[in-house]
Amino acid sequence: MNAPKEPSFRESVDLMFNRAVALMDLPPGLEEKIRVCNATYTVRFGVRLRGQIHTFTGYRSVHSEHMEPVKGGIRFAMGVNQDEVEALAALMTYKCALVEAPFGGSKGGLRIDPREWDAHELEQITRRFAYELAKRDLIHPSQNVPAPDMGTGEREMAWIADQYKRMNTTDINSRACVTGKPINAGGIQGRTEATGRGVQYALQEFFRHPEDIAKAGLSGSLDGKRVIVQGLGNVGYHAAKFLQEEDGCKVTAIIERDGGLMDEDGLDVEAIRNWIAKHGGVDGYPKGKFIRDGSKYLENECDILIPAALEGVINMSNAADIKAPLIIEAANGPVTAGADQILREKGCVIIPDMYANAGGVTVSYFEWVKNLSHIRFGRLGRRQEEARHQLIVDELHKLDEHLGEKWSMSPDFKQKYLRGAGELELVRSGLDDTMRAAYQSMRETWHSGENVDDLRTAAYLVSIGKVADSYRALGL
Ligand code: NAD
Repeated sequence: MNAPKEPSFRESVDLMFNRAVALMDLPPGLEEKIRVCNATYTVRFGVRLRGQIHTFTGYRSVHSEHMEPVKGGIRFAMGVNQDEVEALAALMTYKCALVEAPFGGSKGGLRIDPREWDAHELEQITRRFAYELAKRDLIHPSQNVPAPDMGTGEREMAWIADQYKRMNTTDINSRACVTGKPINAGGIQGRTEATGRGVQYALQEFFRHPEDIAKAGLSGSLDGKRVIVQGLGNVGYHAAKFLQEEDGCKVTAIIERDGGLMDEDGLDVEAIRNWIAKHGGVDGYPKGKFIRDGSKYLENECDILIPAALEGVINMSNAADIKAPLIIEAANGPVTAGADQILREKGCVIIPDMYANAGGVTVSYFEWVKNLSHIRFGRLGRRQEEARHQLIVDELHKLDEHLGEKWSMSPDFKQKYLRGAGELELVRSGLDDTMRAAYQSMRETWHSGENVDDLRTAAYLVSIGKVADSYRALGL
């Protein structure tokens, strides 16, 4: 008998969409309008490098323009193809709707292995790609705003912003054409860590609900939970680091491109990240048990599994062997539709990608607003807030003197209380609030008792409902 065929990434997203939409009462035409990808632009361009012309293929896909600009990262990887960018663009539509970031969904990709090129070459390639997209308004502050994704970071975003600026010298809002930029090029504090930080906030919120914890067969808090992370890149590193340093989680396995490390007593995330930066992989790291086929560690016993590398890693060939009772999809699409069904039947709780990694687009939204308003968050109010707090501290001082030994202020109260919120505190507060609110909207639907037996379907129901409302408001 033939093994059941694994759907492609885009088919997987559509299957999950269809599962949810079957529970809704949308007119069939509107359902189709929301599902389909509006447009995908393919570009092939040549760059003269190392004495010859190299041709590169890139994509920018726009899934839904019910709100503009559309938003979504640009990925640099060899696996980039049209099916993948369209799946990722669709996820962006649902993600933005779920966390109420006022954007449509888009995604871009360039088929390239960034490790094969030096920084100067990459800059030439990135600028040329940005030129091709910008001249068709596929990079534009009010039309289409990219961000970092796999293989790209703030350096590439700075090149893109500068390229757009060179092509639009009088556009006062040019910095808002891309997010995830470095601070000195119009970025915002807390953007680099945002997606990993969002994963942490999502887990913190999950563990505030005993009913949900019980559904995963877990108990207690995040403290002491055994965590396995796949991909120690931007998202995986920050998520693992914060969970280890701030929530008391134990990272028992780390899976990277070249293999996996395992230590039931816990691995040091920071030390391993430094090792990878120096040696290019986890191989040779002096602690923990190394295996070449790291994906085997996805199947280890643990409390929380965090796939944070790429799509399709939990599929029909290994889903039955996954032992984690709770999976949080830090990457986009790490669990295929087929695997999703197997895991649901086993009782595994999956916190879905469109929610779990929405921290990135949430803080990108803050950055875009900062760029359009041309002022740093907190710049106007911070000292005024401090002055008002000072009034209370002065009163407490008087009380302190009056009550003598009976009462005194805690030693660090004054310092902590007086400090007005700067940009980083405001960004984290906005992100935390967004992650809590979105989780609550999902769980309300999950527990509504109307045939919704998983968080992914709940997430789709909430977001499709919001996109449908926008289309209705547009008269569609
Ligand atoms: P990244 O390039 O910074 O990191 C990816 C990491 O995964 C790298 O360390 C890489 O070596 C590792 N990796 C690659 N192939 C692997 C394999 N086969 N097995 C194990 N590890 C492997 O990328 P990132 O920005 O952290 O993105 C990771 C995922 O998160 C992607 O799915 C991306 O779409 C998603 N995401 C990223 C952001 C963001 O803000 N960067 C936002 C939302 C979602």
